[in-house]
Amino acid sequence: MATKITKEEILKLDALTIGKLIKAGDLTSVEATQAYIDAIKAEDPKYNSYITVASDALDEAAKINLKIKSGELTGPFAGVPIAVKDNICTKGMLTSCASKMLSNFIPPYDATVVRKIKEEGMVILGKTNMDEFAMGSTTETSFYGPTINPNGENRVPGGSSGGSAASVAASLAPISLGSDTGGSIRQPASFCGVTGLKPTYGTVSRYGLVAFASSLDQIGPIGKTALDCAALFNVISGIDERDQSSAESSKVDLEALASFDVKGKKIGIPDEYFGEGIDADVKARVMEAVKYFEDNGAVVETFEMPIVEYAIPTYYIIACAEACSNLSRYDGVKYGYRPEDVDNLMDLYIKSRSEGFGMEVKRRIMLGNFVLSSGYYDAYYNKALQAKALIKKAFDEAFAKYDVVIGPVAPTTALKAGESLSDPLKMYLGDICTVLINIVGLPAISVPCGSDHEGMPVGMQIIGKHFDEETILGFAANYQKGGRS
Ligand code: GLN
Repeated sequence: MATKITKEEILKLDALTIGKLIKAGDLTSVEATQAYIDAIKAEDPKYNSYITVASDALDEAAKINLKIKSGELTGPFAGVPIAVKDNICTKGMLTSCASKMLSNFIPPYDATVVRKIKEEGMVILGKTNMDEFAMGSTTETSFYGPTINPNGENRVPGGSSGGSAASVAASLAPISLGSDTGGSIRQPASFCGVTGLKPTYGTVSRYGLVAFASSLDQIGPIGKTALDCAALFNVISGIDERDQSSAESSKVDLEALASFDVKGKKIGIPDEYFGEGIDADVKARVMEAVKYFEDNGAVVETFEMPIVEYAIPTYYIIACAEACSNLSRYDGVKYGYRPEDVDNLMDLYIKSRSEGFGMEVKRRIMLGNFVLSSGYYDAYYNKALQAKALIKKAFDEAFAKYDVVIGPVAPTTALKAGESLSDPLKMYLGDICTVLINIVGLPAISVPCGSDHEGMPVGMQIIGKHFDEETILGFAANYQKGGRS
């Protein structure tokens, strides 16, 4: 047995290294889990990144220890702790979606991704905070109060997977799962200075993910490194008969990633991603990162993508239309919150929704019903579908020329707390760089690339071809191997 690793040292490690140490017998799953549980107890009151801390984590870790010893568990993450966003169902553990509506919902089953991480032998530390029903970009709309960005006290962590990103940034989890409907993995990763992968639509099962907008929703990993994200992607991806839109995809070759070379690779830079409204520091940091690739032999070219102008309206019409349909299941009958003193069925519907949903969720349900209503369907929803076809065409043309497209993740660094709550439109506009990717189902990764003049992290977004996670992860790993963050 090597010299004992201290708790402080454990918290600094990336998830794959923890897995390696456990495999080598230098660390046990119980020791790793204990370090995180202690850290959460001591530090999370400052950040509020968890809604629920698992009461059985140490017991689970002890069981996993035995299975590792007996050779039953051999995966790279066997024994490694993980945090899970609170819109992903965990059997027997509260899955609230950060909403009063589901504040009593204990799922009787595991989401497919949860089943897979358990089969890998990962230990669930708890469920992370988020914007209510994943609607938002700041983690301020949570029924359980806002999460604070570990990089700055009065800064939001981004959203909606703000708890998943903040927990990794604050070393309260070595790795986590988030979900991304219009940027909710990439943008909080960017605001918190960690790495987040939104995989190709369909590669990771949505079974057991509380639905927001089904054609856009995608679960993915948030970690300290691209290699961690790649390895977790390998664990959670794969076809699932319980998800009609799930697709077969190949696993990422981790060894190829570690030696990925950008020489001769073609990078496209859309002009519109660096136009008006994009913060000067953000532009500068992302362009410096692009320069790094260029210095290492990549070929960089700018191109025009005027369709970016339609990104926000197209996304919000499609997302709200699907959300209002998905959320109609919350009626106080089958799931979640049920008010007392109801006179009749209609009263039950009205009161459970009025009292169970927060402002942002109600706004989206109303917007969704509006764009789908008979007089406006053609003017809004059908138009959005036409725009979607044009967005697909624009990316098809770009990927005929380039291996990856690179731009910022968000126009700004982390906003100040409270800044966008009073102005939802401002918050929506912050999604300009991420939403197009969900509309056409592409994979994209958010990689930290320095900070602004106030020390807040900046994220670069690397977008790839459908099912080509390996190339975007390769670029990210190559950048991080060069000692960049
Ligand atoms: N910020 C976007 C929204 O509010 C994206 C949310 C998400 O990806 N879940 O809809």
